[in-house]
Amino acid sequence: MLILECPYCGVMADETELAAGGEAHLKREGPGSSDADFEAYLFDRMNPKGVHFERWRHASGCGKWFHAARNTVTLEVYGTYSAQVSEPPKALVTAIKRKVPGWEGWM
Ligand SMILES: [Zn+2]
Repeated sequence: MLILECPYCGVMADETELAAGGEAHLKREGPGSSDADFEAYLFDRMNPKGVHFERWRHASGCGKWFHAARNTVTLEVYGTYSAQVSEPPKALVTAIKRKVPGWEGWM
């Protein structure tokens, strides 16, 4: 069972208390964007085998959105952090690089 720590209230919440929100750190395209950029925003997802950054909501708790870094193969959770950032914390990325040899890193 997937268990994530909510970075806001500190609760270790299992997946029944959480709502998945898809890939984290998507760049939103505005009204002036090209059709191709808007289509990519709507439909293109990384879906990696390995390290993945996701959005989650603590639906049965504080109700806030947060981000989680986890491995889609091993289900290891590397960490959770605020959804108010445009990229993962550098300390988390460094820790993941240490644990996952060959990982290309964050974008
Ligand atoms: Zn919470």
